[in-house]
Amino acid sequence: MPPILVIGSVAYDTVKTPFGEASEALGGSATYFSVSASFFARVSLVAAVGRDFKEQDWRFLEGRNIDLCGLERADGRTFRWAGEYGYDLNDARTLDTQLNVLADFRPKLMDAHRAMEFVFLGNLDPKIQREVLGQVRKPRLVACDTMNYWINGHFNALLETLKLVDILIINDAEARQLTRESNLIRAARKIHGWGPTTLVVKRGEYGALMFQRNGQGRISVFGTPAYPLEDIFDPTGAGDTFAGGFMGYLAGIGKADWSSLRQAVVFGSVMASFNVEKFSLDRLRTLTFTEIELRYKEFKEMTRFDDVVEWQPSWRV
Ligand code: AMP
Repeated sequence: MPPILVIGSVAYDTVKTPFGEASEALGGSATYFSVSASFFARVSLVAAVGRDFKEQDWRFLEGRNIDLCGLERADGRTFRWAGEYGYDLNDARTLDTQLNVLADFRPKLMDAHRAMEFVFLGNLDPKIQREVLGQVRKPRLVACDTMNYWINGHFNALLETLKLVDILIINDAEARQLTRESNLIRAARKIHGWGPTTLVVKRGEYGALMFQRNGQGRISVFGTPAYPLEDIFDPTGAGDTFAGGFMGYLAGIGKADWSSLRQAVVFGSVMASFNVEKFSLDRLRTLTFTEIELRYKEFKEMTRFDDVVEWQPSWRV
């Protein structure tokens, strides 16, 4: 099973939702991604943390069998993000972003990491995403995430990165903002023109849609609902956890054909649905593979419908 290389943020997040709050909790795009993907494949995490990064958090990641050789301990403070959600949990408001050690982070990949085939460019400065990808010798599948922070301030750099990406995984607001299109099919067409042949749009409580470019400018669409949960405590990291399940599954089976990509969207949705059940990474800490398997089956059942066996002639008029 090919391992995955991920770069992104490792953070301490302060998050407020209508149902509670967490202060300085372990978070970050690469953290959520790695923990989620680690259920399916071995992950090598490339990021930087500060001297204040807690030993227990390092041990937790190591305990999930995540390779931390590329996790640099730099002088300074770990990245901080503070955000707030109202009753619309799809809408995160960023209150504060402190890049700290990530501001000067210029990763130099070690030889073993340069040989990786599955690469996830987590939410980070698009220039750094490109620098890292440039060091990977022969990437087989490259997926990428981004957010409003980078779309607003680093648009051209982001377009340069996208030229090298196979799959862009973003949420619907980001897709609209990036393409300045309100219609997602039009947004997908634009993004396909920039490089990625596949766009996966995460739509929070409404599920996920995948838009694939096929020959003659046609787009094929695949969609899943979100898992119906009554209690959602903290949507932070749902997107990265989705990406972790998605890429983790593909690396786990070593394939990225049409049918596997569809399964991967479901695994992404399964993992994200667990993550939002508790604050920070708390739900993923106790999650078992049996629970993942069971929820995957529930997704299948939820979206299954039969052919009509007996069309009535009167219906045709
Ligand atoms: P998500 O909810 O999946 O979109 O991602 C939430 C995670 O992204 C949080 O744990 C944050 O620490 C991290 N994050 C927020 N802003 C940024 C940023 N500008 N660059 C990198 N990571 C960020």
